[in-house]
Amino acid sequence: MDLFKCGQCGERLFFENNRCLACGTEAGFDWEVCRLVAIKPSSDRLWQAAGDSSRRYRKCFNHEVEGVCNGLVPADSSDRFCVSCRLNQTIPDLSVGKNRELWGKLEAAKRRLVFTLSELGLPLIPKSVDFQRGLAFAFLADPNPDFIEGDRVLTGHSQGVITINLAEADDAVREQMRLDLREVYRTVLGHFRHEVGHYYWDLLVRNDPEIGRVRAIFGDERLNYAQALQDHYVNGAPWDWQMHFVTPYAASHPWEDWAETWAHYLHIIDTLETANAHGVNVQEARHVCSVRDPIGLKMEAILEDWHILRIVLNSLNRSMGHADAYPFVISGAVAHKLRFIHDWIRSRC
Ligand SMILES: [Zn+2]
Ligand SMILES: [Zn+2]
Ligand SMILES: [Zn+2]
Repeated sequence: MDLFKCGQCGERLFFENNRCLACGTEAGFDWEVCRLVAIKPSSDRLWQAAGDSSRRYRKCFNHEVEGVCNGLVPADSSDRFCVSCRLNQTIPDLSVGKNRELWGKLEAAKRRLVFTLSELGLPLIPKSVDFQRGLAFAFLADPNPDFIEGDRVLTGHSQGVITINLAEADDAVREQMRLDLREVYRTVLGHFRHEVGHYYWDLLVRNDPEIGRVRAIFGDERLNYAQALQDHYVNGAPWDWQMHFVTPYAASHPWEDWAETWAHYLHIIDTLETANAHGVNVQEARHVCSVRDPIGLKMEAILEDWHILRIVLNSLNRSMGHADAYPFVISGAVAHKLRFIHDWIRSRC
């Protein structure tokens, strides 16, 4: 993630800000230039960029009315929603308890996802515009908070629709799920990054004439998916999963391997970019300051940086008494898969 600058006072702005904390000027995200900008009221509920009256905006409906977004829409656009909110198909029932607060957490993670996807030049077509190829999000709450088996919203992807169970935004609930499933890492952002990997498989890989190359690395996805998942839940991952997969779950089926590896690719790209934006320069790292254009770099260079940065990151977390931020090891086979995804995106987007 990049850092931004207030056009009014020059202080830095963070991606999540809707106001400059130094001078109080409101702020919003301009998706056309992928920058957070300080904004000043213009006329008729319109806004303009502080210091640049040529850029005029309306606030995204979810920014102005619902308070869960900081997106902007060009003043002359007919869209009510910003680039990120346009992808929503279903939002939670806002008359219920803390649904709005939880929804806001999902929207924040989704905006970060959308930022990275647009930086990588990946297609971001709303399903409302192209039903066949488009992407949509459904944020749903379990119908019964007491939880009846089989009556639960399942987080997942199906035919371009990414469904996220609203409970994943509740820290206590998500942490309990993480412990129950013996996972070392579970975050809302991680869910988004994983599920969107399934979407891009359908969009970019499924019908590609070179799918044989993907199968050679990730395995044959024509393997019975339901059976493979069932086997995984009964038997667990093979003992040597770490040699071949980034997580135990990635060992369940080639589709899940692709989605897990895809998620890690996005973890790495975003975290390195953030380090770069903050001027972090690990002494031995030769490339950490050049990830501004991740697509222009070779994956080998990115992974060299990542190897150093993840150690620093984990050590900093330990200093604060937290668990490791990135509790994973990238084996040679996983590095090969990450490199493949990187080159696949570079050659197709
Ligand atoms: Zn300011
Ligand atoms: Zn929005
Ligand atoms: Zn999956």
